Amino acid sequence: MQGEGPYVGVRQAFVRFSGCNLNCKYCDTDFSNPGTCDYEKGEGSGSFEKAKNPISALQLKDMMQPFKNLHSVSLTGGEPLLHTDFIEELDKLDLSAPLYLESNMTLPEQARKVKDRVAYVAGDFKLPEALGLENPEARETREAHIENTVECFRTLRKSETRDCFCKIVVSRDSDPASVVSAVDAIAGYVSCVILQPETRIESPEVGINAQSSVRSLIELQSMLLEKIDTRIIPQTHRMWGCL
Ligand code: SF4
Repeated sequence: MQGEGPYVGVRQAFVRFSGCNLNCKYCDTDFSNPGTCDYEKGEGSGSFEKAKNPISALQLKDMMQPFKNLHSVSLTGGEPLLHTDFIEELDKLDLSAPLYLESNMTLPEQARKVKDRVAYVAGDFKLPEALGLENPEARETREAHIENTVECFRTLRKSETRDCFCKIVVSRDSDPASVVSAVDAIAGYVSCVILQPETRIESPEVGINAQSSVRSLIELQSMLLEKIDTRIIPQTHRMWGCL
């Protein structure tokens, strides 16, 4: 089940790619052991087998056979845009469900390569503070990051054949002004904005401390609703112990 954003609850097959070009403070992805991958043998069975990496697109299609009635196939990570050749191959295989790209939206050239192959784009806008770029000395890197992000949204924007929405992870350290400025930059390209309260999984105590207060999130949502449909949706899969 998709656990985040406006498609929460739809049935998906998840394809998790290894590696990422960023290093977010709240990252919960385990990049260790890319030599093998785990794949689930049946829907929700919790029973996994190992396969040697890299697997081919055709192998992946075979692995997906037991998964029925899918809304879409989630390409997630890590960062799937580091694997555009694979995504192109997968699309050519005529899967039973459309591709749903979950991306950090920082690789515009790669975004151009897959723009006609994905039907859904769940794009993050990584706030500078999530990447340690909030300080004055990081200005050039911060500006390049924002420019790349906006270019990715422009390239993968909503259209008649593709939905594109923006997810922003918000913690108590997030600067509301940087959230508003991010939304201003991409509002014309997306169907809605999701404010996702940060969840830290290393320790429940840290998780509570890292979260924004309900009140500050609602105030932020009020400001953004003037511009675009804005929803507050936490990571629901964490609530019921799903992967
Ligand atoms: S973009 Fe996603 S996978 Fe990459 S470091 Fe950030 S949270 Fe982790």
